[in-house]
Amino acid sequence: MGRKITLIGAGLTGPLLATYLTQHGYEVDIYERRSDMRKETISAGRSINLAMSVRGIQALKEVGIYEKIKPLTIPMKGRMIHGLNGSTHLQPYGQKEEEVIYSVSRATLNMELMSLAEETGKIRIYFNQKCTHVDLDKKRFNILNESTGEESDHSFQLIIGVDGSASAVRNSMVDRGKIQFTDKPLGHGYKELTIPPSETGEFQLEPNALHIWPRGKFMLIALPNMDRSFTCTLFFPMEGETSFATVNSKEKIISLFEAYFPDSISILNRLTEEYRTNPTGILGSVYCDPWHLGDSAVLLGDAAHAVVPFFGQGMNASFQDCTVLNGLMIEHGDDWKTILNEFSQLHVKNGHAIANMALENYIEMRDKVNDSQYRIRRKLELALENQFPDRFIPRYSMVSFHQIPYSKVYKRGNLQLKIIEALLDLDPNGKTIDRVLVEKMLN
Ligand SMILES: Cc1cc2nc3c(=O)[nH]c(=O)nc-3n(C[C@H](O)[C@H](O)[C@H](O)COP(=O)(O)OP(=O)(O)OC[C@H]3O[C@@H](n4cnc5c(N)ncnc54)[C@H](O)[C@@H]3O)c2cc1C
Repeated sequence: MGRKITLIGAGLTGPLLATYLTQHGYEVDIYERRSDMRKETISAGRSINLAMSVRGIQALKEVGIYEKIKPLTIPMKGRMIHGLNGSTHLQPYGQKEEEVIYSVSRATLNMELMSLAEETGKIRIYFNQKCTHVDLDKKRFNILNESTGEESDHSFQLIIGVDGSASAVRNSMVDRGKIQFTDKPLGHGYKELTIPPSETGEFQLEPNALHIWPRGKFMLIALPNMDRSFTCTLFFPMEGETSFATVNSKEKIISLFEAYFPDSISILNRLTEEYRTNPTGILGSVYCDPWHLGDSAVLLGDAAHAVVPFFGQGMNASFQDCTVLNGLMIEHGDDWKTILNEFSQLHVKNGHAIANMALENYIEMRDKVNDSQYRIRRKLELALENQFPDRFIPRYSMVSFHQIPYSKVYKRGNLQLKIIEALLDLDPNGKTIDRVLVEKMLN
């Protein structure tokens, strides 16, 4: 094929992927629906900040941007759990010093990735260009400029859909058939709120932690920002007795927070105003198989596998997609038929696995982290990691601090769960480790 590739979407994945592609000699055109956020103050969409971990960092290192981003991140060592009575305790994410995750601003990261891409001189980003349809047989796609109403159509050789969870490229691929696709709404949505810096300009909560107020059917979380504010996210049912549908007045918002998040009210300065004016985001999981069509179209990032945000992995998984595709390009050169075929064969199962694990983690975060059984299990998990360092790695650590494919993590995690159950059957306090039993189950 020729040396030009077309990307739809300049969110987090698009410019990163484009940069990888230029390293293989390609020129890349990116069509982005929004205007250029480096020139106008517009929201980067979705969340304000994100948790970045090893899979994301690895990709940033590979394209040579990590050193620029690292100073803009805040390490988070663990979950700071806020009890109903205002008590707090830190649950470390790992037991090694380097086992931390990092809070990063989505907008800063997105802008840096776009600038890095443009600096290659081989990538052009066209803004205000919404892809409305892709004709995969004729290899043409339609663009609408939503501000001027102007329409245009263009040809492509290879088109890559990095246009997020509502992907237009994916819709066209699904319409053409042969691609299985499900979009499973979670039934819960999210609302972002702000804890500003104190009057003296300080963080109002411990900065090196991801704060969680777990409340059973819903939760509030907070991640630190470089300006010493925190962005809080309320994850909450869309419908039902206590939900976005019912908590819809100033009085109800205040009683919700007084009842469930009392220690946050005094620091959420604009609670009722932000709750009422900030949009309610919807959440869901996208399962798609395969991710490609012949040698002419492929999906990466949320377009291929949008996941709910409870493992902090959507972006990390999307960046890992780029690393995996890059590996296949190194292996197969210009043979896109093989590259794309192997990409789906190798990696679709990983997308499905992280989607499932992220759903499971919602229950853990909102419901379990504060219960005594969970804490016994967690201690046992860490003790097992110490005793069997290369063979037993807690699932959270495998996902966040290792690059083991998610589908393997999922399988290993389930086996490890069985080991924990077996040990707890022998000693419900989780203090005794029967090494022979563990060895037997691990083999
Ligand atoms: C509340 C929340 C919290 C999250 N927290 C984390 C976290 O802590 N850690 C983590 O790793 N991930 C997190 N994620 C997930 C992360 O945001 C996504 O996985 C990531 O943004 C995926 O990148 P992407 O480029 O594939 O999609 P996006 O970032 O959504 O980018 C898609 C781009 O395509 C453009 N576009 C869309 N349609 C069209 C079209 N038709 N034509 C042209 N352009 C188009 C969009 O404008 C956008 O710029 C979170 C998500 C949410 C909702």
